[in-house]
Amino acid sequence: MAPQQHKVAIIGSGPAGHTAAVYLARANMEPILFEGMMANGFAPGGQLTTTTDVENFPGFPEGVLGGELMDKMRAQSEKCGTKIETETITKLDLSSRPFKIWREGSESNEEPTDIAQAVVFATGASARRMDLPGEDKYWQNGISACAVCDGAVPIFRNKPLVVVGGGDSAAEEAIYLTKYGSHVHVLVRRDVLRASKVMANRLLKHPKVTVHFNTVATEAKGDGNLLTAVATRDTKTGEAGEIPASGLFYAIGHVPATELVKGQVDLDEEGYVKTVPGSSQTSVLGFYAAGDVQDKRYRQAITSAGSGCMAALDAERYLTELEEEGTAAQ
Ligand code: FAD
Repeated sequence: MAPQQHKVAIIGSGPAGHTAAVYLARANMEPILFEGMMANGFAPGGQLTTTTDVENFPGFPEGVLGGELMDKMRAQSEKCGTKIETETITKLDLSSRPFKIWREGSESNEEPTDIAQAVVFATGASARRMDLPGEDKYWQNGISACAVCDGAVPIFRNKPLVVVGGGDSAAEEAIYLTKYGSHVHVLVRRDVLRASKVMANRLLKHPKVTVHFNTVATEAKGDGNLLTAVATRDTKTGEAGEIPASGLFYAIGHVPATELVKGQVDLDEEGYVKTVPGSSQTSVLGFYAAGDVQDKRYRQAITSAGSGCMAALDAERYLTELEEEGTAAQ
């Protein structure tokens, strides 16, 4: 079967993908959006489908459930004219334009299933987990990978909290959590913090923070509903310990979903798509990246949505230029 032709394809269905879709559809670019079938471990809608209340997305003074917010974004994409396909993209060829796209199950075929003049890549990222005993049970019931998202939740207020990690993100998250928790314990595997000197000093001097060096978490313990303690082990002596805690925050990094484009687009040392600062342009003309897949710093729904808008406007300008040259696919 001949590949389906599109002006622009969006890969990913989080806030970045849907915002790009709304803008591109309203600009008559007839976008197709591949929302994935549990791609990268997430249901269509992305990371927010794994959480309950979202209280920091503007426009919802009472807060909104993550799943509900994503349903609304999807409905808006469709209403504006986006074609949404519940398919995962498993192969991309960016070596020539139009770009070639293969849906899951077709990757061994020479012929792609779809071709597009421009692609908005919004496949997101996922937080690294530790696979501790008790982790699945207390995930989102005490365990989180986002202090900024979850720190203000009532279960953490004036309660002892634990942060795992020794880098800048861990230091930032721990200091942020001192606003809410009674005390913040930071578990650092080695005998030194990886964080920058400034952040490390700020952390070590903070009256509400205790840094436990040479210490790893070994189990998330709870009462069946909520987390109540974190079991630990001293990496030098092997001694076991336990820290009573209502919150356990992982700050051990994220993994961007960039497997599809490795070797085709410039990625940074951690695998995030590199974009020209202040735009969504990647090292490949016509290929734009938005959301967490290109952002290791902010990682918020609203920043993802904002960068989705940027990608749409960048793609639209590119497609308009192509059309003016008379080469765009009809
Ligand atoms: P994602 O949300 O990561 O979505 C990407 C989507 O693309 C996924 O559905 C994935 O399946 C799909 N996909 C991936 N690869 C493919 C492929 N090959 N083909 C097709 N589809 C594909 N932020 C806030 O601002 N406020 C909060 O309160 C908040 N709470 C959070 C709670 C949790 C538990 C988590 C995990 C995150 C939270 N965040 C919050 C962060 C926020 O969810 C992310 O910053 C945001 O969702 C990133 O959006 P995105 O569009 O880049 O991608």
